[in-house]
Amino acid sequence: MTQSSIQFRGHLILGLTTLVLTGCATPTNQCPRDRVHIAQDLPCHEVESRKQPIRYLILHHTAASLPSSMQILQGKHETNKVGIHYLVCNKPEAQIYRFAPEHLATSHAGKSAWRQDQSLNQSSVGIEIVNLDGNLNPYSPSQISQLIALCQEIVIRYKIDPTHVLAHSDIAIGRKKDPGSLFPWKQLAEAGIGAWPDDADIKQFQSRYAKKLPDKKEILNQLIDYGYRPSDSSEASLKLTVEAFQRHFRGQKVDGEIDAETAAMISALHLKYCRPTSTAKN
Ligand SMILES: [Zn+2]
Repeated sequence: MTQSSIQFRGHLILGLTTLVLTGCATPTNQCPRDRVHIAQDLPCHEVESRKQPIRYLILHHTAASLPSSMQILQGKHETNKVGIHYLVCNKPEAQIYRFAPEHLATSHAGKSAWRQDQSLNQSSVGIEIVNLDGNLNPYSPSQISQLIALCQEIVIRYKIDPTHVLAHSDIAIGRKKDPGSLFPWKQLAEAGIGAWPDDADIKQFQSRYAKKLPDKKEILNQLIDYGYRPSDSSEASLKLTVEAFQRHFRGQKVDGEIDAETAAMISALHLKYCRPTSTAKN
C-alpha cells in the first residue's frame, strides 16, 4: 500500500474533519467534498446543457495512455471526440482531473440503453479511468481508492440507485467492453457503489441449477427485467447480452454461455434488485 493510499484511508475514516477539495470554481459545480481531491480542473469539451436529472453513473476505461487520454479529453484529437466529467489517472500517482461540471451533460455514452432510457449522456455522470484495456490490465489499488471516494460522493448526492451504476459495456452491448472484466465491481459494491448479488442466493440457485439448468429464455428475461437491452432477439445479440453481464459480474468467464454459475448470478441479482416475479422465485 502506498503512502498516499494510507493517507486516503485516513481521510475516509476522519470523514468531515478533513477538507481537501480544490479547484471548485462555483457552488453550481456541485463538487465532491470532504474526501475527494480534484487535482486540476481542465477545460470542458464535448458538453451540452443538461436537460434531465442525473440518475446514472457510468464508468469507462480510456483505452489510451494518460498523455493520449488528456489529448482526447481536451478536444485535441482530430476524430476521437469524447467528453467526460472526471478522469482518474494512475501515473505518476492516482489522482482525479475534472473536465466538466456535473450540471453539464458530456458525450461519453454514445448510443446506449438501460431499462426505459436511451442515450444516457443526458441522465448520467461519466468517469474515465486510465487503463489501456481493463479486460487485460488490472486497476491499481490506489486508483480504485480514488475512484471509490469519488463515486461514493456522486452516488450519495444524486441518490443513484445501485442498478444505475453501470459499465459502458452494460449500456452499449456488443459495442463497448469497458471498463473491462478486471474492473473490481464487487469491491465497489462493498463500498456502497452499485449492485452485487448476495453470496447465499448465488449458492442456493447454483446448487439447484447444477442439477438442471433453467430455461434459457427465463434467464434472458431476468437479464432484461434487470435492465439490459439487447439490440434484437437474435441468438447473437442475446449471447452478447450474457457477455455484457459476465463482464460486469463474472469477469473470469466472459463467453456468453449460460452455465449454472452464470445463471445463478443472474437469478440472485434479479431476486435482490427486481420486483418479485414468478420466474425469480421458482
Ligand atoms: Zn467507454
